[in-house]
Amino acid sequence: MENILPNNIVLGAGIAGISASYHLKQKGIESTIYEKDSDWGGLCGFFEIEGFRFDRFVHFTFTKEEYIANIFEKSSPLYAHPSISYNYYNGAWLKHPAINNLAQLSSEEKTQIITDFVNRPQKDVSEIKNYDEWLRVQNGNYFAEHFPFPYTRKYWGQEPKDMETRWIGNRIRSAALDEVLRGAFEEQEQNFYYTSYMKYPKKGGFRSILNHCRNGLDIHFNKNVVRIDSRNKAVYFADGCHEQYDRLISSLPLPEIVKIIDDCPAEVLEAAEKLHWTSGYQISLGFNRPDVAKHLWFYIYDEDVMPARVYSPNLKSSDNAPEGCSSLQAEVFFDCKAEIPLSSVVLENTISRLKEICNFVDKDIVVKDIRFEKYANVTFTHEIYENRQIILDYLKSEGIDSIGRFGKWDYLWTFQAFKTGMEI
Ligand SMILES: Cc1cc2nc3c(=O)[nH]c(=O)nc-3n(C[C@H](O)[C@H](O)[C@H](O)COP(=O)(O)OP(=O)(O)OC[C@H]3O[C@@H](n4cnc5c(N)ncnc54)[C@H](O)[C@@H]3O)c2cc1C
Repeated sequence: MENILPNNIVLGAGIAGISASYHLKQKGIESTIYEKDSDWGGLCGFFEIEGFRFDRFVHFTFTKEEYIANIFEKSSPLYAHPSISYNYYNGAWLKHPAINNLAQLSSEEKTQIITDFVNRPQKDVSEIKNYDEWLRVQNGNYFAEHFPFPYTRKYWGQEPKDMETRWIGNRIRSAALDEVLRGAFEEQEQNFYYTSYMKYPKKGGFRSILNHCRNGLDIHFNKNVVRIDSRNKAVYFADGCHEQYDRLISSLPLPEIVKIIDDCPAEVLEAAEKLHWTSGYQISLGFNRPDVAKHLWFYIYDEDVMPARVYSPNLKSSDNAPEGCSSLQAEVFFDCKAEIPLSSVVLENTISRLKEICNFVDKDIVVKDIRFEKYANVTFTHEIYENRQIILDYLKSEGIDSIGRFGKWDYLWTFQAFKTGMEI
């Protein structure tokens, strides 16, 4: 009798899809990945222009999970950069986190911040209704309104009151009064970041952490899935081909997959309509000078400057830029339902403001590029959990395993997205 192997299909060759296919292979189960782009890596991928390599947004790894860390290290030797970053605020450079490093501010502003910090609202976590309240309780009103509030508008495209708080976890540290006071008098040596090292491949860009897993996987590129017939277990592609499957694993964003499944119920489509996420521009600049980038990464609070965060590919690894050159990449985000400005407007604002902030002139720039990513961050608005659950329950009922940052619809870092593929 003919021995027919089950056809396991994985949608998307980002870190989650690669991990799912790799771990199936470890169990002796073959699978095929279908990817709409012409290359693998998804958000962990990169692009190159005239010898400058840019990742798709910032990207470092800091997993403490041994199994995953070993796989990443096995793929590529990694630099371990101390997690030292900065905040640009109204012309001043404050080490991160700003609340612990107020020394550069005027006496007037320090007095307002510290007075409000001491008198900050006292509430039990269970009484806090939204991110606005959470920020005021943690920091006091003045700091909340001048630092994380503008940053929330820039990074999340939301007013803090419109966000819930369960996503925060250990991502934002709470400061103690003695730390705030000490940091107001002098620059702090102590690093208060949630992880002490940020790791990055010495060669080949961020995606190299996946080289070991990617080897030997069967990936088909330029295969944009446009229809799923879950009843007859078939996926259809934009190029007119289709494939039958026995098992379907998807890392497609929830708002996209529900639109392409035959006969998806109206309540599931409505739940997807209510989800929020950010889309983002990456503005990538290459310079013919070695010294433009001074910080591995920094945050910008001024709301008239579009980027929320800027980092340096060449400081992540010198392999990312030609010798004697340096590079920057800036991130500009918008809520998915906001009007998105033209790329020319964003590019112009970013370059003109970064010239002042980072001290460069037009003739230093040898590469400038702007790209748009439809899916950047999942946004934790108040209705996220019930709507996400409706969609996940539906996918389960259709026999589809949903993985990854946008398939789980969660604030997952790379190692966590990798883990969702592993759990498959
Ligand atoms: C601004 C920013 C900064 C970040 N910084 C870090 C960091 O420093 N450290 C860290 O650990 N994590 C970071 N992350 C998170 C990290 O990028 C993600 O967790 C991870 O890359 C998600 O992987 P994924 O495979 O789930 O999704 P993706 O990488 O999005 O992969 C999904 C894949 O599916 C493909 N696809 C989509 N639709 C279709 C279709 N219809 N047909 C076929 N294929 C399709 C896509 O092209 C893509 O390749 C950052 C994310 C952002 C946005």
